[in-house]
Amino acid sequence: MNLYEIGIDGVVVCNQCQERYCDCCPENAITIGSLGEVVISQTLCTLCGVCRKACPIGAIEIFNDFIYVCDLCGGRPKCIEACKEGAITYEVDEAHHPSLATLKKETKKMNPGQKQYFYLKKLGLEERKRWRRKHA
Ligand code: SF4
Ligand code: SF4
Repeated sequence: MNLYEIGIDGVVVCNQCQERYCDCCPENAITIGSLGEVVISQTLCTLCGVCRKACPIGAIEIFNDFIYVCDLCGGRPKCIEACKEGAITYEVDEAHHPSLATLKKETKKMNPGQKQYFYLKKLGLEERKRWRRKHA
Protein backbone atom coordinates (compact mmCIF):
# COMPACT_ATOMS: atom_id res chain seq x y z
CA MET A 1 0.00 0.00 0.00
CA ASN A 2 1.33 3.44 -0.93
CA LEU A 3 0.85 6.39 1.38
CA TYR A 4 2.23 9.03 -0.91
CA GLU A 5 1.48 11.94 1.37
CA ILE A 6 3.83 10.70 4.10
CA GLY A 7 6.27 8.79 1.91
CA ILE A 8 5.53 5.31 3.18
CA ASP A 9 5.25 2.26 0.97
CA GLY A 10 4.35 -0.57 3.26
CA VAL A 11 2.60 -3.86 3.75
CA VAL A 12 0.28 -4.80 6.56
CA VAL A 13 0.81 -8.23 8.03
CA CYS A 14 -0.68 -10.05 10.98
CA ASN A 15 0.68 -8.80 14.33
CA GLN A 16 -0.26 -12.02 16.12
CA CYS A 17 -2.23 -9.72 18.39
CA GLN A 18 -3.15 -10.65 21.96
CA GLU A 19 -6.83 -10.51 21.27
CA ARG A 20 -6.97 -12.73 18.16
CA TYR A 21 -10.04 -10.93 16.90
CA CYS A 22 -9.97 -13.03 13.73
CA ASP A 23 -10.36 -16.26 15.68
CA CYS A 24 -14.13 -16.14 15.26
CA CYS A 25 -14.59 -18.32 12.21
CA PRO A 26 -18.04 -19.91 12.01
CA GLU A 27 -16.53 -22.82 10.07
CA ASN A 28 -13.68 -23.44 12.53
CA ALA A 29 -11.24 -22.86 9.67
CA ILE A 30 -8.87 -20.80 11.85
CA THR A 31 -6.40 -22.21 14.32
CA ILE A 32 -3.61 -20.52 16.29
CA GLY A 33 -0.21 -22.15 16.08
CA SER A 34 2.54 -22.46 18.67
CA LEU A 35 4.21 -19.20 17.57
CA GLY A 36 0.91 -17.38 17.83
CA GLU A 37 0.47 -17.52 14.08
CA VAL A 38 -2.94 -17.57 12.43
CA VAL A 39 -3.47 -20.63 10.25
CA ILE A 40 -6.44 -20.77 7.89
CA SER A 41 -7.66 -23.99 6.33
CA GLN A 42 -8.36 -23.38 2.65
CA THR A 43 -10.51 -26.53 2.75
CA LEU A 44 -12.85 -25.38 5.52
CA CYS A 45 -12.92 -21.70 4.59
CA THR A 46 -16.06 -20.56 2.74
CA LEU A 47 -14.67 -17.04 2.10
CA CYS A 48 -17.44 -15.48 4.19
CA GLY A 49 -15.15 -12.61 5.23
CA VAL A 50 -16.04 -12.62 8.95
CA CYS A 51 -12.40 -12.92 10.07
CA ARG A 52 -11.29 -10.31 7.57
CA LYS A 53 -13.78 -7.80 8.94
CA ALA A 54 -12.81 -8.63 12.53
CA CYS A 55 -9.10 -7.86 12.16
CA PRO A 56 -8.47 -4.25 13.31
CA ILE A 57 -5.64 -3.72 10.81
CA GLY A 58 -6.94 -5.51 7.71
CA ALA A 59 -4.24 -8.18 7.85
CA ILE A 60 -6.36 -10.87 6.19
CA GLU A 61 -6.83 -10.71 2.43
CA ILE A 62 -9.20 -12.49 0.08
CA PHE A 63 -8.02 -12.59 -3.52
CA ASN A 64 -8.99 -14.83 -6.43
CA ASP A 65 -11.02 -17.13 -4.17
CA PHE A 66 -8.17 -17.67 -1.74
CA ILE A 67 -7.75 -16.30 1.74
CA TYR A 68 -4.34 -15.07 2.82
CA VAL A 69 -2.76 -14.25 6.14
CA CYS A 70 0.88 -14.24 7.22
CA ASP A 71 1.42 -17.54 9.03
CA LEU A 72 5.13 -16.91 9.74
CA CYS A 73 6.14 -19.77 7.42
CA GLY A 74 6.59 -22.06 10.42
CA GLY A 75 9.00 -19.64 12.13
CA ARG A 76 11.30 -18.96 9.15
CA PRO A 77 9.52 -16.27 7.14
CA LYS A 78 10.43 -16.54 3.47
CA CYS A 79 9.97 -12.79 2.89
CA ILE A 80 13.05 -12.14 5.04
CA GLU A 81 15.21 -14.43 2.91
CA ALA A 82 13.77 -12.87 -0.24
CA CYS A 83 14.45 -9.24 0.69
CA LYS A 84 18.02 -8.54 -0.45
CA GLU A 85 17.96 -5.08 1.18
CA GLY A 86 17.56 -6.53 4.68
CA ALA A 87 14.49 -4.37 5.13
CA ILE A 88 12.51 -7.05 6.96
CA THR A 89 13.34 -8.40 10.38
CA TYR A 90 11.61 -11.02 12.47
CA GLU A 91 11.91 -10.82 16.22
CA VAL A 92 10.50 -13.69 18.21
CA ASP A 93 8.79 -12.38 21.31
CA GLU A 94 6.19 -14.97 22.10
CA ALA A 95 5.57 -13.49 25.57
CA HIS A 96 4.61 -10.05 24.28
CA HIS A 97 2.05 -10.16 21.55
CA PRO A 98 0.82 -6.60 20.93
CA SER A 99 -2.65 -5.48 21.87
CA LEU A 100 -4.76 -4.04 19.07
CA ALA A 101 -7.63 -3.09 21.40
CA THR A 102 -7.27 0.65 20.78
CA LEU A 103 -7.08 0.18 17.02
CA LYS A 104 -10.12 -2.08 17.17
CA LYS A 105 -12.14 0.81 18.60
CA GLU A 106 -10.66 3.42 16.28
CA THR A 107 -11.31 1.40 13.12
CA LYS A 108 -14.73 0.08 14.10
CA LYS A 109 -16.55 1.65 11.16
CA MET A 110 -13.85 1.11 8.54
CA ASN A 111 -13.57 -1.52 5.81
CA PRO A 112 -10.40 -3.67 5.67
CA GLY A 113 -8.68 -1.41 3.13
CA GLN A 114 -9.34 1.66 5.24
CA LYS A 115 -8.05 -0.19 8.30
CA GLN A 116 -4.78 -0.99 6.54
CA TYR A 117 -4.35 2.64 5.56
CA PHE A 118 -5.15 3.91 9.06
CA TYR A 119 -2.74 1.45 10.65
CA LEU A 120 0.14 2.30 8.33
CA LYS A 121 -0.41 6.00 8.71
CA LYS A 122 -0.67 5.86 12.49
CA LEU A 123 2.11 3.42 13.27
CA GLY A 124 4.22 3.39 10.12
CA LEU A 125 6.14 6.56 10.79
CA GLU A 126 7.07 5.57 14.35
CA GLU A 127 7.98 2.07 13.25
CA ARG A 128 10.21 3.41 10.49
CA LYS A 129 12.01 5.71 12.94
CA ARG A 130 12.50 2.82 15.38
CA TRP A 131 13.89 0.58 12.64
CA ARG A 132 16.29 3.29 11.44
CA ARG A 133 17.58 3.91 14.99
CA LYS A 134 18.21 0.22 15.47
CA HIS A 135 19.91 -0.32 12.13
CA ALA A 136 21.81 2.99 11.84
S1 SF4 B 1 -6.88 -10.06 14.46
FE1 SF4 B 1 -5.50 -9.48 12.76
S2 SF4 B 1 -3.55 -8.99 13.78
FE2 SF4 B 1 -4.80 -10.11 15.27
S3 SF4 B 1 -4.15 -12.26 15.05
FE3 SF4 B 1 -5.93 -11.96 13.68
S4 SF4 B 1 -5.07 -11.40 11.65
FE4 SF4 B 1 -3.46 -11.15 13.19
S1 SF4 C 1 -13.45 -16.08 5.55
FE1 SF4 C 1 -13.00 -18.29 5.87
S2 SF4 C 1 -11.59 -18.35 7.63
FE2 SF4 C 1 -12.56 -16.30 7.62
S3 SF4 C 1 -14.34 -16.50 8.99
FE3 SF4 C 1 -15.09 -16.91 6.88
S4 SF4 C 1 -14.91 -19.16 6.64
FE4 SF4 C 1 -13.68 -18.60 8.44
